[in-house]
Amino acid sequence: MPTRRTDDTLATYRAKRNFAKTPEPKAARGRRRKEPRFVIQQHDATAMHYDFRLEAGGVLKSWAVPRGPSTNPRDKRLAMPTEDHPMAYGSFEGVIPKGQYGAGPVIVWDAGTYRNLTERNGEEVPMEEALRRGHAKFWLEGHKLRGGWALTRTPVGGTAREKWLLVKLKDDEADARRNPVSTQPESVVSGRTIADMRRGGPA
Ligand code: MN
Repeated sequence: MPTRRTDDTLATYRAKRNFAKTPEPKAARGRRRKEPRFVIQQHDATAMHYDFRLEAGGVLKSWAVPRGPSTNPRDKRLAMPTEDHPMAYGSFEGVIPKGQYGAGPVIVWDAGTYRNLTERNGEEVPMEEALRRGHAKFWLEGHKLRGGWALTRTPVGGTAREKWLLVKLKDDEADARRNPVSTQPESVVSGRTIADMRRGGPA
Protein backbone atom coordinates (compact mmCIF):
# COMPACT_ATOMS: atom_id res chain seq x y z
CA MET A 1 0.00 0.00 0.00
CA PRO A 2 1.30 3.48 -0.79
CA THR A 3 2.02 5.52 2.32
CA ARG A 4 0.13 8.49 1.02
CA ARG A 5 -3.01 8.52 -1.09
CA THR A 6 -4.11 11.26 -3.42
CA ASP A 7 -7.70 10.93 -2.15
CA ASP A 8 -6.59 12.62 1.03
CA THR A 9 -8.91 15.16 2.65
CA LEU A 10 -7.99 18.54 4.10
CA ALA A 11 -7.34 16.95 7.51
CA THR A 12 -3.69 16.38 6.62
CA TYR A 13 -3.36 19.97 5.42
CA ARG A 14 -4.73 21.23 8.77
CA ALA A 15 -2.68 18.85 10.88
CA LYS A 16 0.60 20.03 9.36
CA ARG A 17 0.09 23.72 10.01
CA ASN A 18 -0.23 26.16 12.90
CA PHE A 19 -2.58 28.85 11.57
CA ALA A 20 -1.62 31.20 14.41
CA LYS A 21 1.89 31.29 12.93
CA THR A 22 1.65 30.71 9.17
CA PRO A 23 0.05 33.21 6.77
CA GLU A 24 -1.30 30.31 4.66
CA PRO A 25 -5.11 30.02 4.34
CA LYS A 26 -7.15 27.89 6.73
CA ALA A 27 -8.72 24.82 5.22
CA ALA A 28 -12.24 25.10 3.86
CA ARG A 29 -13.78 23.02 1.12
CA GLY A 30 -14.73 25.10 -1.92
CA ARG A 31 -17.76 24.81 -4.12
CA ARG A 32 -17.50 23.19 -7.51
CA ARG A 33 -17.26 25.74 -10.30
CA LYS A 34 -17.98 25.46 -14.01
CA GLU A 35 -14.39 26.06 -15.00
CA PRO A 36 -12.07 24.12 -12.75
CA ARG A 37 -8.86 25.89 -11.80
CA PHE A 38 -5.22 24.97 -11.71
CA VAL A 39 -2.29 26.69 -10.07
CA ILE A 40 1.45 26.13 -10.00
CA GLN A 41 3.24 27.62 -7.02
CA GLN A 42 7.01 27.89 -6.92
CA HIS A 43 8.09 27.08 -3.38
CA ASP A 44 11.60 27.30 -2.02
CA ALA A 45 11.32 25.04 1.04
CA THR A 46 13.90 22.38 1.99
CA ALA A 47 14.45 22.11 -1.75
CA MET A 48 13.09 24.24 -4.60
CA HIS A 49 10.01 22.76 -6.24
CA TYR A 50 6.83 23.62 -8.08
CA ASP A 51 3.53 22.68 -6.43
CA PHE A 52 1.17 21.63 -9.19
CA ARG A 53 -2.48 21.81 -8.09
CA LEU A 54 -5.68 20.85 -9.92
CA GLU A 55 -9.18 21.57 -8.65
CA ALA A 56 -11.18 18.37 -8.12
CA GLY A 57 -13.99 17.66 -5.67
CA GLY A 58 -13.84 21.11 -4.07
CA VAL A 59 -10.15 20.95 -3.13
CA LEU A 60 -6.80 21.41 -4.88
CA LYS A 61 -5.26 18.00 -5.57
CA SER A 62 -1.52 18.57 -5.25
CA TRP A 63 1.87 17.27 -6.41
CA ALA A 64 5.36 18.60 -5.78
CA VAL A 65 7.30 18.74 -9.06
CA PRO A 66 11.02 19.27 -8.31
CA ARG A 67 11.95 20.47 -11.82
CA GLY A 68 8.67 22.14 -12.69
CA PRO A 69 6.54 21.50 -15.79
CA SER A 70 8.07 21.11 -19.26
CA THR A 71 6.57 22.05 -22.62
CA ASN A 72 8.60 19.25 -24.27
CA PRO A 73 6.64 15.96 -24.62
CA ARG A 74 9.91 14.02 -24.26
CA ASP A 75 10.42 15.23 -20.68
CA LYS A 76 8.93 13.17 -17.88
CA ARG A 77 8.78 15.31 -14.79
CA LEU A 78 8.61 13.56 -11.43
CA ALA A 79 5.54 14.63 -9.42
CA MET A 80 5.28 13.55 -5.78
CA PRO A 81 1.72 13.67 -4.40
CA THR A 82 1.20 15.96 -1.41
CA GLU A 83 -1.83 16.64 0.74
CA ASP A 84 -4.99 18.23 -0.68
CA HIS A 85 -5.01 22.00 -0.30
CA PRO A 86 -8.04 24.30 0.13
CA MET A 87 -9.17 26.24 -2.96
CA ALA A 88 -8.12 29.51 -1.28
CA TYR A 89 -4.52 28.31 -1.36
CA GLY A 90 -4.47 28.93 -5.11
CA SER A 91 -3.93 32.65 -4.62
CA PHE A 92 -1.46 32.36 -1.74
CA GLU A 93 1.89 34.08 -2.06
CA GLY A 94 4.13 34.90 0.83
CA VAL A 95 6.77 33.57 3.15
CA ILE A 96 5.96 30.60 5.39
CA PRO A 97 7.80 31.37 8.64
CA LYS A 98 10.82 29.50 9.88
CA GLY A 99 9.93 26.47 11.98
CA GLN A 100 6.58 26.04 10.20
CA TYR A 101 5.78 23.23 7.76
CA GLY A 102 7.14 24.13 4.30
CA ALA A 103 9.03 27.20 5.62
CA GLY A 104 10.16 29.44 2.77
CA PRO A 105 8.87 31.77 0.04
CA VAL A 106 5.95 30.89 -2.26
CA ILE A 107 4.86 32.62 -5.49
CA VAL A 108 2.05 31.86 -7.93
CA TRP A 109 4.17 30.84 -10.92
CA ASP A 110 1.18 30.12 -13.17
CA ALA A 111 -2.58 29.87 -12.77
CA GLY A 112 -5.70 29.51 -14.88
CA THR A 113 -8.43 27.07 -15.75
CA TYR A 114 -8.28 23.56 -17.15
CA ARG A 115 -10.43 21.25 -19.23
CA ASN A 116 -10.56 17.57 -18.39
CA LEU A 117 -9.50 15.45 -21.39
CA THR A 118 -9.58 12.09 -19.63
CA GLU A 119 -11.68 9.56 -21.54
CA ARG A 120 -12.51 5.91 -21.22
CA ASN A 121 -14.39 4.14 -24.02
CA GLY A 122 -15.14 7.54 -25.52
CA GLU A 123 -16.71 8.90 -22.32
CA GLU A 124 -15.26 11.61 -20.12
CA VAL A 125 -13.92 10.30 -16.81
CA PRO A 126 -14.54 12.79 -13.97
CA MET A 127 -11.26 14.24 -12.67
CA GLU A 128 -11.58 12.79 -9.17
CA GLU A 129 -12.13 9.32 -10.59
CA ALA A 130 -9.31 9.75 -13.12
CA LEU A 131 -6.90 10.64 -10.32
CA ARG A 132 -8.08 7.72 -8.19
CA ARG A 133 -7.37 5.45 -11.14
CA GLY A 134 -3.93 7.01 -11.55
CA HIS A 135 -4.16 8.66 -14.95
CA ALA A 136 -5.55 12.04 -16.00
CA LYS A 137 -5.25 14.20 -19.11
CA PHE A 138 -6.15 17.87 -19.10
CA TRP A 139 -5.82 21.04 -21.15
CA LEU A 140 -4.34 23.96 -19.25
CA GLU A 141 -5.24 27.56 -20.01
CA GLY A 142 -2.70 29.50 -17.98
CA HIS A 143 -0.62 32.62 -18.46
CA LYS A 144 2.55 30.64 -19.23
CA LEU A 145 1.29 27.13 -19.87
CA ARG A 146 -1.23 26.22 -22.53
CA GLY A 147 -2.08 22.83 -23.98
CA GLY A 148 -2.50 19.24 -22.90
CA TRP A 149 -0.60 17.49 -20.12
CA ALA A 150 -0.95 14.08 -18.51
CA LEU A 151 -0.39 13.00 -14.92
CA THR A 152 0.23 9.28 -14.49
CA ARG A 153 0.91 7.26 -11.36
CA THR A 154 3.85 4.92 -11.75
CA PRO A 155 3.86 1.49 -10.17
CA VAL A 156 5.92 1.36 -6.98
CA GLY A 157 6.59 -1.66 -4.85
CA GLY A 158 6.24 -2.24 -1.13
CA THR A 159 6.03 0.80 1.11
CA ALA A 160 7.69 3.20 -1.34
CA ARG A 161 6.06 6.58 -1.70
CA GLU A 162 3.67 6.97 -4.59
CA LYS A 163 5.24 8.64 -7.63
CA TRP A 164 3.59 10.31 -10.59
CA LEU A 165 4.90 11.71 -13.87
CA LEU A 166 3.81 15.01 -15.41
CA VAL A 167 4.25 14.93 -19.19
CA LYS A 168 3.31 17.37 -21.97
CA LEU A 169 0.99 15.83 -24.56
CA LYS A 170 1.95 16.00 -28.24
CA ASP A 171 -0.27 18.80 -29.50
CA ASP A 172 0.12 22.14 -31.28
CA GLU A 173 1.15 23.80 -28.03
CA ALA A 174 4.06 21.43 -27.40
CA ASP A 175 7.41 23.20 -27.81
CA ALA A 176 10.76 21.58 -27.08
CA ARG A 177 12.59 24.94 -27.32
CA ARG A 178 10.56 26.79 -24.70
CA ASN A 179 11.66 26.57 -21.10
CA PRO A 180 9.26 28.76 -19.13
CA VAL A 181 10.55 27.55 -15.75
CA SER A 182 13.84 29.36 -16.42
CA THR A 183 12.81 32.12 -18.85
CA GLN A 184 9.62 33.23 -17.04
CA PRO A 185 10.42 32.99 -13.33
CA GLU A 186 8.09 35.75 -12.15
CA SER A 187 4.74 35.46 -10.37
CA VAL A 188 1.68 35.85 -12.59
CA VAL A 189 0.01 37.66 -9.67
CA SER A 190 2.65 40.12 -8.42
CA GLY A 191 5.44 39.97 -11.01
CA ARG A 192 7.87 39.05 -8.23
CA THR A 193 10.37 36.22 -8.33
CA ILE A 194 10.92 33.72 -5.54
CA ALA A 195 14.11 35.66 -4.65
CA ASP A 196 12.13 38.93 -4.43
CA MET A 197 9.66 37.19 -2.13
CA ARG A 198 12.40 35.82 0.08
CA ARG A 199 14.01 39.26 0.38
CA GLY A 200 10.94 41.38 0.89
CA GLY A 201 8.05 39.17 1.97
CA PRO A 202 4.60 39.71 0.44
CA ALA A 203 4.00 42.97 -1.46
MN1 MN B 1 5.52 22.97 -1.58
